[in-house]
Amino acid sequence: MQLYCESLTEYKRLKTREVKIGDLLLGNFHPIRVQTMTTTDTMDTIATVEQSIRCIEAGSELIRITAPSKKEAENLLNIKNELRKRGYTTPIIADIHFTPNAAEIAARIIEKVRVNPGNYVDKKKFEQIEYTDAEYAEEIDRIKERFTPLVKICKEYGTAMRIGTNHGSLSDRIMSRYGDTPMGMVESAMEFLRIARGETYHNIILSMKSSNPQVMVQAYRLLIKTMFDEFGEIYPLHLGVTEAGDGEDGRIKSAVGIGTLLEDGIGDTIRVSLTEDPEFEIPVCKDLVQRYQVDRGSMTDGRHKESIELKSANGQQPTTNLPYSPFEYKRRETFAVDNIGGKHVPVVIADLSKIEKITTAHLQSIGYTYDAATDKWTIGDAAADYIFTGNQVLDFALPGTLKVIVYPAAWRLAEDKSKYFPIYGDSGYAEAEFKNDSLNFVMIDCYNDGVPPNSYLDKLANDPTVVICLSSTNTNAMQSVRLMFTELMSRNIKNPVVLITDSKWQTPDEHLIHFATETGALFLEGMGDGICLGYSGNAGMENIKATGRTYLEVKDIYQFTNNTAFSILQATRTRISKTEYISCPSCGRTLFDLQETTGKIRARTNHLKGVKIAIMGCIVNGPGEMADADFGYVGSGPGKITLYKGKEVMKRNVNSEVAVEELINLIKENDAWVEV
Ligand code: SF4
Repeated sequence: MQLYCESLTEYKRLKTREVKIGDLLLGNFHPIRVQTMTTTDTMDTIATVEQSIRCIEAGSELIRITAPSKKEAENLLNIKNELRKRGYTTPIIADIHFTPNAAEIAARIIEKVRVNPGNYVDKKKFEQIEYTDAEYAEEIDRIKERFTPLVKICKEYGTAMRIGTNHGSLSDRIMSRYGDTPMGMVESAMEFLRIARGETYHNIILSMKSSNPQVMVQAYRLLIKTMFDEFGEIYPLHLGVTEAGDGEDGRIKSAVGIGTLLEDGIGDTIRVSLTEDPEFEIPVCKDLVQRYQVDRGSMTDGRHKESIELKSANGQQPTTNLPYSPFEYKRRETFAVDNIGGKHVPVVIADLSKIEKITTAHLQSIGYTYDAATDKWTIGDAAADYIFTGNQVLDFALPGTLKVIVYPAAWRLAEDKSKYFPIYGDSGYAEAEFKNDSLNFVMIDCYNDGVPPNSYLDKLANDPTVVICLSSTNTNAMQSVRLMFTELMSRNIKNPVVLITDSKWQTPDEHLIHFATETGALFLEGMGDGICLGYSGNAGMENIKATGRTYLEVKDIYQFTNNTAFSILQATRTRISKTEYISCPSCGRTLFDLQETTGKIRARTNHLKGVKIAIMGCIVNGPGEMADADFGYVGSGPGKITLYKGKEVMKRNVNSEVAVEELINLIKENDAWVEV
């Protein structure tokens, strides 16, 4: 193993233990399983069975159902029997929080239980208590006493278990010693895992979920390393980003977190948590997984991953002395060229080069609206910083903040050199007679074998006018570009880098996942000072509807690509350009219509750039799970909502009819509101 995966330079699945869930095998190189969770009331047997069937028909290989108390745990038997009667043998998972007695009932009925180590025994009080070593050890004994009976039942009944840590619901004990950190998440699971191993029970899967993909990725990597160092083996991993939200943002956040880990061969089962009906999560899961599942002999289109071993310039694997830490976020150090690199947030470059004649109307798609009557531009929060126009010099005056990248011949023709900048191929720049005094873009393709083109690299290294644009046509594109970054870091080359990613996929969901995975994985490592997304294949929008599948609606490719770029930066927390919604996927505990309410809140607040709003279905898990939200809207009883500022209750049991308005008032009272 290399640090946290089998290989940093080729696609290789991580070897994990094999686990049996009913008849389903998971881990140990079995296919990556996809799963979801029902949102119906668990006491409503028929509604739960019918929703489960819709999910199974969509391809879900496991179905999770909440069991908040003993009566729901007992009703799992009716649900299971009805499903079996209708011919469905898909394994069922009971989702448990706070209630060991419900877990012990469920473990005798269904195939798997999920426990949350943050609240299985502990009741979270959000208190910062100092624990002495003796007190801490006493707490561990208490957990052992309470958790061991469940382990014994699972062992006796052949029931599998997920130890599912959530970033937002770490116990006070863990928080006191490790804080709200990836290491705290890992230790929270390890305490339970050690107890289970002590009972020689191994039918275990683990997860480290967070609504922040950065925290989530670091926690999984640390968990793998910790398990391997302590046990010499790794238990299978269930991947997920919690409270990802809905629509494009939910898909992008999930793909950034889950996709980054899948790229390194990590993950045995995945769940994409969307605030949508659960059956709609499955196609997104499948899109994420299909990138790694195609028969290797048929991979000719550059879309699927294959095993190509990359080497750095000196022929060595860059794995023992990585010039960055994969366990913590630190942005790669660069100097600034114009507004790119240094301390600047990553820039967004819109590729408009396929438009034959660019007009002011085209710029509306990328955040600039022109009013001919006043001859003024309105600039949106998600307005691209640069456009690439190929050989076109525009015949209208540009908005103040927008600059243009063109090929060298067009650049020489452009009158306003403060607005136009040339882009060269790597050898082209080295040999160019004319260059811009302040900013030149230089394309480098990270070649198939990953060896950087040394001779060209030497010529532009640390040239204060050069921004490097990295791309790769390799099927292992992310690894190739990452290898190039390690080369730049090892050689102390501090030019800023723009990530250029093309998609050859067909559907909007596939494009989103491709862009978010390939670039998100690098931004989460602190690599990248800009992003440019494009299509080298068919953008595919016309062919999509014929398949009959529900996809994101895309009317304007340029707007879609521009928004995707900004959303990737937002999901990786490298550039905040809009309101962030942390909304739970809902489950049988949910106390209001989450999709409808999320829509209403979004409609009123989507102009509050940088404000994080949580919309959570229940008071049991909601406050713990809403992570670092600034404001929280949490179901606290039928028709009742409790409003939070951070973790503090501000308005308790507000009537749901006026709760959205009260939330707006709360935001206003705390000076976080701006008028549209
Ligand atoms: S926060 Fe949402 S998904 Fe989580 S338990 Fe409560 S209602 Fe269910």
